[in-house]
Amino acid sequence: MHNQAIAALGVDYVYVPFPIQAADLAIALQGLAAIGVQGFSVTIPHKQAIVPLLSTVTELAQAVGAVNTVWWNGSGWSGTNTDVAGFLAPLHPLARDWRTTKVVILGNGGAARAVVAGCCQLGVAAIQVVGRQPDKLAQFQHSWQAVPWSLPLTVHPWETLPDLVAQADLLVNTTPIGMTPHPGQSPLTEAIAARIPPTAIAYDLIYTPQQTRFLQQAQTQGATAIGGLEMLVQQGAVALEQWLNQPVPIATMRQALLEALSARIPKKA
Ligand code: NAP
Repeated sequence: MHNQAIAALGVDYVYVPFPIQAADLAIALQGLAAIGVQGFSVTIPHKQAIVPLLSTVTELAQAVGAVNTVWWNGSGWSGTNTDVAGFLAPLHPLARDWRTTKVVILGNGGAARAVVAGCCQLGVAAIQVVGRQPDKLAQFQHSWQAVPWSLPLTVHPWETLPDLVAQADLLVNTTPIGMTPHPGQSPLTEAIAARIPPTAIAYDLIYTPQQTRFLQQAQTQGATAIGGLEMLVQQGAVALEQWLNQPVPIATMRQALLEALSARIPKKA
């Protein structure tokens, strides 16, 4: 999607993947600087490890604890996290009073961190993170202690899900449950899904398939459904804008991503 946008803009750049071993990350950064690279994306497993290697890191990326976008600032590498802006993009057009919104987040991994930061930017009333491992949940809560903004965050065991779902205004799935190759699965049992309020927004970060079982369950209750594809497009667009320092054609990027994903889906015999 980046290269399609670059072609549409007619600028002289190219976006290419470089698999880099964890032990080689520091030297890879030196090499990328030496050959004049403008910027790059960072993905698993380097999103956290790269932070101490950068000369500046935005407050947002520090809070999230992960960098996914890096650019050359003239004397070193700067990093930020565009997943937060990507997550927020499909929510902004919705007419909601975010200050009274209760958010329930399923899962407490890397993507949940961007969702928490995004919900803080919206100024929501409550953020309830639900996970299956008490020690990881406690670590998750602790990791936000130094954040310089108000954070109405509480963590909850998976068993409390029925009551939390029934009170959710924004319900976000950050677990991989229901992702290809298991599209029939959902983090919610049918009984719990039946408690989704019809006024709620259900947001699944999964982008393949685009219509997950979780989103189908929410729509059956009358809720508004948002899939993960737009977040993926928008985080990429924000990164490309940072590197090129100009607006980028988001529709071109969305179309390129849709084509790439449909080419990956195995055809039925
Ligand atoms: P991650 O760091 O591995 O976190 C996954 C979370 O899901 C963990 O809290 C994990 O719990 C929980 N989980 C997994 N299986 C579970 C189960 N059976 N029951 C309950 N909880 C379960 O992964 P991630 O990087 O956050 O990514 C999560 C999902 O978001 C993936 O589907 C990814 O494709 C999607 N994503 C989408 C975008 C986008 O742009 N749309 C961006 C980032 C991620 P434990 O820690 O207990 O295992």
